[in-house]
Amino acid sequence: MIEKVYDPKKVEDRIYQFWLKTGFFNPDKLPGKRKKKFVIALPPPNVTGSLHMGHALNATIQDILIRQKRMQGFKTLWIPGTDHAGIATQVKVEKELKKEGKTRFDLGREKFLERVWDWVKKYGGIILEQFKKLGCSLDWSRNRFTMDEKYCEAVNYAFWHYYKKGLIYKGKRLINWCKRCKTSLSDLEVEYKKEKGNLWHVKYPIKEEGSRKKEVGRYIVVATTRPETMLGDTAVAVNPKDKRYKEFVGKIAILPLVNREIPVIADQRVEMEFGTGAVKVTPAHDFLDYEISLSHKLPMVQVINEEGKMVNVPKEFEGLDVFEARKKVVEKLEKEGFLVKVEPYEISLPICYRCGEVLEILPSEQWFLKMDATHPPPSRKRAPSLAKEAIKAVKSGKVKFVPKRFEKIYLDWLNSTRDWCISRQIWWGHKIPIEGEESVLDTWFSSALWPFATLGWPKKTKDLKEFYPTDVLVTARDIINLWVARMVFSGIEFLKKEPFKYVFINPTVLTKEGKRMSKSLGTGIDPMDLIEKYGADATRFGLIWQVKTGQDLRFDETIIQMGRKFSNKIWNATRYTLLQIPNSKFQIPKKLKISKKMTKAQKEIIKSLEKTIKTVNKNLEKFEFGKAAENLYHFFWHQFCDKYIEESKKEIKEGNPFTKKVLLYVLLKSLILLHPFIPFITEEIYQKLPLKNKKTSIMIEDWPS
Ligand SMILES: [Zn+2]
Repeated sequence: MIEKVYDPKKVEDRIYQFWLKTGFFNPDKLPGKRKKKFVIALPPPNVTGSLHMGHALNATIQDILIRQKRMQGFKTLWIPGTDHAGIATQVKVEKELKKEGKTRFDLGREKFLERVWDWVKKYGGIILEQFKKLGCSLDWSRNRFTMDEKYCEAVNYAFWHYYKKGLIYKGKRLINWCKRCKTSLSDLEVEYKKEKGNLWHVKYPIKEEGSRKKEVGRYIVVATTRPETMLGDTAVAVNPKDKRYKEFVGKIAILPLVNREIPVIADQRVEMEFGTGAVKVTPAHDFLDYEISLSHKLPMVQVINEEGKMVNVPKEFEGLDVFEARKKVVEKLEKEGFLVKVEPYEISLPICYRCGEVLEILPSEQWFLKMDATHPPPSRKRAPSLAKEAIKAVKSGKVKFVPKRFEKIYLDWLNSTRDWCISRQIWWGHKIPIEGEESVLDTWFSSALWPFATLGWPKKTKDLKEFYPTDVLVTARDIINLWVARMVFSGIEFLKKEPFKYVFINPTVLTKEGKRMSKSLGTGIDPMDLIEKYGADATRFGLIWQVKTGQDLRFDETIIQMGRKFSNKIWNATRYTLLQIPNSKFQIPKKLKISKKMTKAQKEIIKSLEKTIKTVNKNLEKFEFGKAAENLYHFFWHQFCDKYIEESKKEIKEGNPFTKKVLLYVLLKSLILLHPFIPFITEEIYQKLPLKNKKTSIMIEDWPS
């Protein structure tokens, strides 16, 4: 007999241990022939991470797909692992050091890296243990880390491959620079914060040719939000269509405070509506100005260094930090009569996505991976660029986004992307494998190899042959460009095959009020608390229930409570069913045939079950997880419990010969269908069913079609 009340706490850990013992998470240990494969690579969470609601939803979706396919007879593999998460991890350890009053430079590179490895050993496994609590059927025998020995080999191989092909180069380019982390950041790693600032209008006198007397006449007024950078100006630019400035184009302006002669140029990239319509051009500290300087062959004068201090400027400003310099520049402009006016202006300040420091844009020697240029060698044929290959993969339908609208984010970025700055001046990561080079690779360089490096690539392993490409990638929208696009071109480049067929972008989990969930804002909910309170099944079911066609998810805890009630309902229906069949075992057929002698209620419940099977299968195929959960809930609660179980009480009194079999049949099929959603309780009950043809685990039961 089974206990009166279902207590997930007594069941879930025990069941997970049982699953591990069966070995069925490992595709090589699954019974039967299983010719077709189904593979998912878990988006590796950062080693610094602990489970948040986004992970919980993301992992539940993957587990549903994997469990269903496993029951459908596929050879299923779900690969786990963690990402070393370069800057993120380094910042964590630096914070720890700060408490001891030290910086990483006090320790030196080697000692610091030892600290990071200690940290990783201590905390790096937490999130994986949490995935186990959630019930994830990951193959732990294939667990990987983006800095394990073999993974490092893969990263080096990829670097040299690109390098030999001429796709990796070193160059002085403008980059985003974090002066706190002391590293470059890619455009995708820059965040913006709105702040109240000013727009300063500054007079630049025009040098009049042929005139000997000191000219007091004409000047051009430029508007800027960063007056201190004017010390590095090498031109003034206006739009060629701007009638106000026609007479100035081609003239020479005198840069105030510096007295440098700089040309007034016309360029269509200048916005006529911004400020006065005339802008200063500072090629060393602004991306657009840099582009303009290339077209007009302007020199570049760097005035801010990597410490955020002024350099190559008049003595009175030398060595000041940018904010002091701004104050001083403005003061002097005012004193000398160059400042026309100041107006308040909201600015969008670029900040470091890891530490929040205001970023500088400056020229730096960095390593780049060519994204858009075509490259001839080694064969004479011009190979298509990495970006173009990734675009083609989606346009041809070889990689499909679900929901489809996310394609646009991917394509827009690839169509406009610049070369990828792959070097970072931090210590934690894959060191660039070139002698004398101190930088490490962008953490996404290694993540881009995830779907195949996890399978043993660059070695031609059995796993690589058998399990590449994967089938579905389930991920969040904010890393479509950082990660998804780069995996696609890497897969094509190294294995001539797209790394997955579907990219399912899971909904973002928001608060009930539609706000972002954030630990620091106190609006986050810890999924581990939910598991503690309601059990993993209820947490999974409640989360999945709220996944509605491409919509963001406004998390409602009462739905998790509903999941808990549903578990109890299933438990009670089981108790009732088992009570009717105390001492007999049944052979349950794959499909129970409707007999003419059955009651109306029996015929109806069997038909209703068949209909539910069809709908659930259809919805799962379309990644409509919430709908599939609803289908099952309504069938079980309203058709089976409310209707048939009630009817069956009468039938049993009358001694109907079909009742027990119908009860057990419907219960068993329901458990199988529910297993991917609520794996623990369904396994616990399955083990108690009086079946003659029982499998070791419900995990390998036949999925109904
Ligand atoms: Zn930073």
